[in-house]
Amino acid sequence: MTHAGASDPGLNQSPPFVDIDLFGSDRPLRDAVIANGARDDIDALGQLGRHWGRADMAELARLADIHVPRLEGDIVIYHPAYHRFMAESMAAGLHNLTWTNAGAAAGPPSEVARAARFYMVAQVENGHMCPVTMTRAAVAALGASPDLLVRVMPKIQTRTYDPAFRSWTGKSAITLGMGMTERQGGSDVRTNTTRAHRDGDIYRIDGDKWFMSAPMSDAFLVLAQAAGGLTCFFMPRFRPDGGVNGLHLLKLKDKLGNRSNASAEVEFRNAYAIRVGEEGRGIRTILQMVQLTRLDCAISSAGIMRAALARAVHHARHRAVFQRKLIDQPVMRNVLADLALDAEAALAAVMRLCRSFDLAATDALEAARARVLTPVIKYWVCKTAPAFVYEAMECLGGNGYVEDYALARLYREAPVNAIWEGSGNVMALDLLRAMRSGEDIHHVIRALADEANDCPGAAEEIGRIERLLASSDLEIHARRLIESLALIAATAALRNSGSGIAAIFSQSRLNGGIGCRNYGAAPLAAVASQVLERALPD
Ligand SMILES: Cc1cc2nc3c(=O)[nH]c(=O)nc-3n(C[C@H](O)[C@H](O)[C@H](O)COP(=O)(O)OP(=O)(O)OC[C@H]3O[C@@H](n4cnc5c(N)ncnc54)[C@H](O)[C@@H]3O)c2cc1C
Repeated sequence: MTHAGASDPGLNQSPPFVDIDLFGSDRPLRDAVIANGARDDIDALGQLGRHWGRADMAELARLADIHVPRLEGDIVIYHPAYHRFMAESMAAGLHNLTWTNAGAAAGPPSEVARAARFYMVAQVENGHMCPVTMTRAAVAALGASPDLLVRVMPKIQTRTYDPAFRSWTGKSAITLGMGMTERQGGSDVRTNTTRAHRDGDIYRIDGDKWFMSAPMSDAFLVLAQAAGGLTCFFMPRFRPDGGVNGLHLLKLKDKLGNRSNASAEVEFRNAYAIRVGEEGRGIRTILQMVQLTRLDCAISSAGIMRAALARAVHHARHRAVFQRKLIDQPVMRNVLADLALDAEAALAAVMRLCRSFDLAATDALEAARARVLTPVIKYWVCKTAPAFVYEAMECLGGNGYVEDYALARLYREAPVNAIWEGSGNVMALDLLRAMRSGEDIHHVIRALADEANDCPGAAEEIGRIERLLASSDLEIHARRLIESLALIAATAALRNSGSGIAAIFSQSRLNGGIGCRNYGAAPLAAVASQVLERALPD
C-alpha cells in the first residue's frame, strides 16, 4: 500500500496520508468553486472527494503505475486498475460534463464543476486521464461534421465504460484519441506527411504517427494531407464491414511518467476514415479541441501540485527534527507557505479560466479571456509543477524519493503536461498568435488590472506588460510576457475567490517579487499560519 509498511508513526514517521477528503480538506478549492459559480455542486464534490481520497484508490493508482500496459499484436493489455479508473472517471462524467450540462441554464458552470472533479482525480491517478480528456475535447472538433457528431454523441453522453475491442457503432460507450504528431514534427503539424486519398464518400489513409496515446480508443481524430491540404479525419479501429481497420500499433513508448497510459507509435495502411470539416481546414478544425486539452493540462497540473503540497504539509506536521516538528521550523514553514501560495494561485487561475469558458458563448470579454489566457495559464501552471513537486518531495527528505510514497510518482508525472498539447515556447507563441489574429489582449489586460488593482506590485507588473507589448520584437520577449500575464491573471483570480491570499501572493511574485528562483525565500513568517491552515487544516 502507498506510504505504509516501512512507515511507523512510533518511530517519528508520518502516518500514511490516505483516506483523505479531497474536497473537505481543500479550502482553496471550495472558495474557487463558490467564486466561480458552482456553489450548488458542493455536496456532489464532497462525495467525489471522499471517494477518490480513499486508501484503496491510492493503492489502485500505485498498481496502475507499476503494471504498465503491454502490446500484444494490435491490442494493448492494461492492468485491471487502469480499467477501474476509466470506469470511475466516466461514471463521474469527466469525459462529457461539458457537453451534457451545456445549455442547462444561463452560464451553467459546467467547466468549473468538471474542473473541480478533474483536479481531485488528478491527485490520485493521471495516466487514465489522457483518454478521458481526449474524448471530451474531440467533441469540439467533431462539431465541424454535424452528421457524424449526431451519431457519436449518444455514445459519449453515457456514463458507462465499455473497453470491448469491437466496432464503435455497436458499443454503448466509446472513447476517442488523437493522432497529430509525426516523427518529423509535432508542434509544426503542417509537416505531416501522412496522406489521405478520397474513395467515394470516405478516405483511405497511409502513413504513420510518432505518438498516439490511448491506442485502444474506439476512434481517433487524425491529421493527414488530402488533395486540398491538411485535413482532420475520424479513424475508427474497425471498418464499417466489421473488419479491423488498417491501424497498426508498432510499439509502446517507455515513458518517464504517465505510465498507466499507453502511448504508441502507429502505422496506417489503407486505413478507412471519414473527413471531419473541410479539406485543407485541419488546423482550424482542431483549434477548439486543442484549447480544451490545454485547459485540462493546466487543471491536472494544479491537481498534481495540490497532491504534492498536501503530503509535504502532512509530513511536516508529524515529523520532528532537532526537538521540533518540521512545520514549526522557521525555514521549513517558509518553504511550505511559499509552496502553498503557488498551489492556491494555480488552482484559482485555472478555475477562473474555466469560468471564462462557461461564459464565453454569451460574453465577448470572457471569450477573449478564454482564448488569450488558455496558453498563458497552461504555460505557467504546467511549467511550475515540476519544480514545485521537486521541492515538496524534498520536504519528505529521503522518503520523498522512494516509490512507497506518492511523491516519486508525482515527480515523474509532472513534466508531461508542459510538453504535450503545446510545449512552453509554443504556448508563448500561441499567445502572440492570438493577439495577431485580432484578440483584444488590451481589453483582457485592463480587466485583469481592474481586478488586481489594489494588490502590491500589480500596477508595476501591468506597466511592464504594456512596455513588453510595445516592443518591436515581441517574439524575443514572449516568455517574459507570458510569465507576467500569468502572474497578473493568478493575482486577479485569487482576488476573485476572496481569500485574502491575493496580496500575499502578489507581494512576493509581482514586479520581480523576492527575486529568488527557489521556494522558501519570501518572508512569509507573519502569514504562514493563515496560508497553511487554508491549504490543509491541522
Ligand atoms: C507521453 C506523450 C503522449 C503523447 N500523446 C500524443 C497523442 O496522443 N497524439 C499526438 O498527436 N501527440 C502526442 N504526443 C506528442 C506531443 O504532443 C508532442 O511531443 C509535442 O506536441 C511536441 O512536439 P515534438 O515532440 O514534435 O517536439 P518539437 O515540435 O520538435 O518541439 C521541440 C521543442 O521546440 C520548441 N519549439 C517548437 N516550435 C518552436 C518555435 N517556433 N520557436 C521556438 N521553440 C519552438 C517546443 O516548445 C519544444 O520545446 C505525446 C507526447 C508525449 C510525451
